[in-house]
Amino acid sequence: MEEKTIASSRRAHCLVLAFPAQGHINPMIQFSKLLVHEGVKVTLCTTRSFIKKLQNLPSSMSLESISDGFDNGFEQAGSHKAYLEKFLQVGPQTLLELLDNLSQLGNPVDCIIYDSFMPWVLDIARKHGIFGASYLTQNMSVNSIYYHVQLGKIKVPLSDNEVDGILLPAMPKLQKGDLPSFFFSYEEEPTQLKLLVDQFSNIDKVDWILCNSIYELDKEIAEWTTKIWPKFRTIGPNIPSMILDNRIKNDQDYDIAQFKTEDSCIDWLDNKPKWSVIYVSFGSMVPLNEEQMEEIAYGLRDSDNYFLWVVRASEENKLPKDFAKKSEKGLIVTWCAQLKVLQHEAIACFVTHCGWNSTLKTLSIGVPTIAMPQWSDQATNAKYIVDVWKVGIRAPYYDDDNDKKKIVKRDALKKCIVEMMDGEKGNEMRKNAIQLKKLILEAASVGGSSHRNILEFVKSLEGSTCPGFEITP
Ligand code: UDP
Repeated sequence: MEEKTIASSRRAHCLVLAFPAQGHINPMIQFSKLLVHEGVKVTLCTTRSFIKKLQNLPSSMSLESISDGFDNGFEQAGSHKAYLEKFLQVGPQTLLELLDNLSQLGNPVDCIIYDSFMPWVLDIARKHGIFGASYLTQNMSVNSIYYHVQLGKIKVPLSDNEVDGILLPAMPKLQKGDLPSFFFSYEEEPTQLKLLVDQFSNIDKVDWILCNSIYELDKEIAEWTTKIWPKFRTIGPNIPSMILDNRIKNDQDYDIAQFKTEDSCIDWLDNKPKWSVIYVSFGSMVPLNEEQMEEIAYGLRDSDNYFLWVVRASEENKLPKDFAKKSEKGLIVTWCAQLKVLQHEAIACFVTHCGWNSTLKTLSIGVPTIAMPQWSDQATNAKYIVDVWKVGIRAPYYDDDNDKKKIVKRDALKKCIVEMMDGEKGNEMRKNAIQLKKLILEAASVGGSSHRNILEFVKSLEGSTCPGFEITP
């Protein structure tokens, strides 16, 4: 058994290992900045294939990489399943080599903070005699849902009884439409569900469980989670400091991105009245089908409000042929600086797919939402946005039960926009959003719950001895 003490004379060194996806690496980078601010040395790490795709990598921390087996591009894997299998074969060894190299260079790592999508990292940390901290990128309720699947308390596919709704501790009843999409695409995409459920395969053994969320957002589930995992801590929202207390100076830069930002949209917003523009974005991954694109396009047009719509370059060919990218009322861009956009006073509401990062940002800035979840955890986030935090309305699918395509029709979208822009409901959402924003700001500021949790984590690294480890053969 290897055991190691961090000399109190030197700063603790964390290797922050991100899963190769934009929505995963960005919050980990923001968390890393907070650690650096507290005196921790951070080396950021992800896969070689992913690093090549990224722009705006941070200069305040060193960068290392491991291999996923597809150094020339993970598209070569052909399928998600093949990719993950290869990653599991190649990743651990290259991570171990990296740790050895860093030690030999006199720059030993004390703790690996790893994306919970890679639970195998804990074994490597153990082999190396260092701490392992699992970083959860999703909402606390979503973690609980998958944990219950891992425990075998929820079986997928769901039984006929469960399809009517699931009741889990410290959570509202979840209907079918509130559950992660992978429960229903299990047969076509078993790998996705496995990836999510496996996050919790060794969670009881990790030294820390850090979650990109905020205690005050949902105290009940936070407390329930801390009871079952005493090392669970909320440390979010991991978004640039300029939105929060500006603790980290000049932290306004944008998330690292795979796409080029179109800055011109800020000038366009500058010329619009306060609270007059609908911002629409479905994040970095979700593809919409042509019919849905058309319904959104005409729903926006028919609502007769200003709109700024992010349509990624890979999606542009699905826009209706006669739909102008720039018109009197609307502007379509391929990517924008979302934080700057959400902060702009012209923005009235956000039509969103409810990805967790977008959700955290809109909650932190206090912009109400129209929820149009598409896949993965987004439906559960939408449930919280609408029914728990009451800062948004959900755009209904056309005939949810029978229409497998799950399309939000133009009239439904238009109705939501009108409700948000002209109705009592919009005012109420806006008020709630401002209150929630204050809570989040307090949690993230010095002395707030997330800040205290970060300090506790940092302190645990300094001058401490790693616990006795069981080394996996
Ligand atoms: N984003 C952005 N510009 C855009 C659209 C999205 O910067 O034009 C950012 C957004 O702020 C968020 C991320 O991309 O940080 C999307 O992450 P999320 O978890 O919301 O969704 P995903 O892309 O993982 O589906």
